Amino acid sequence: MRKVWFVGAGPGAVDMITVRGRELLTRAGAILYAGSLVSPRHLEFAPAECVHADSSAMTLEEMVAWLVEQAGRHATVVRLQTGDPSLYGALPEMVRPLTRAGVAVEVVAGVPSFAASAAAALESLTLPESTQTVILTRVPGRTPMPDTERLRDLARHGTTLCLHLSITLWPVIREELFAAGWSASAPVVVVGKATWPDEETIVRGTLDTIEEACQRAGVRSQAMILLGPALGACQADAAPHSRLYAPEFSHGFRSTWEK
Ligand code: SAH
Repeated sequence: MRKVWFVGAGPGAVDMITVRGRELLTRAGAILYAGSLVSPRHLEFAPAECVHADSSAMTLEEMVAWLVEQAGRHATVVRLQTGDPSLYGALPEMVRPLTRAGVAVEVVAGVPSFAASAAAALESLTLPESTQTVILTRVPGRTPMPDTERLRDLARHGTTLCLHLSITLWPVIREELFAAGWSASAPVVVVGKATWPDEETIVRGTLDTIEEACQRAGVRSQAMILLGPALGACQADAAPHSRLYAPEFSHGFRSTWEK
């Protein structure tokens, strides 16, 4: 059956795609890749005769038309996009018209940039007795936010925040976080181009200092902003240990007799 596969390429480095995603590239008849955020080196794994196009200058309609046309010619068509396709990936806008055109669709998950950023900075996003919740969000830029999801409301929970698409919007971020009661000394970690060879940059600071620190480090795009009480735990002398590994704690994979 002819199919368009939406494949998460992962955050940047070519070896951060899943084995399943790579395997699809090796048998793809056509690949539409998001050239602004996905490395063209992924194309080296495609067969020599594979047709490919960079979607960065295309409209949504042009992308869908390209995918439909290629699905008429090839059994395996790949739409390669950054990170994981379920996050800020315009998936429904592409899936709906493809389905209407009678093209089957399947998604292959990718390593999301928030996870790659946490790994790069040696950060855990959850910390026992501190925060057990992670909020993936953004602040409004050209894309508005739903009224119920203002950062000032989300940030009141005091949980970990991973801000996407927001690196140029520090004044908004600060205003919202201060309105939620955060202090100017709250720690912030910014990871630019996580996993990209020779381009990954990690910037640490506080709400007060981070904008300038990012400017100094040249981090202006493709950056993840991590905030919250779990930050810095790996570097701290003492942090509460996860109950998961407490001897008296038993769960499905490790019963108490293993104590
Ligand atoms: N689907 C992607 C997100 C796309 S939105 C995912 O799963 O991660 C684009 C935003 O993701 C960027 O503005 C930035 O905030 C973040 N991002 C993407 N790649 C990144 C990387 N390599 N390092 C840090 N942040 C990244």
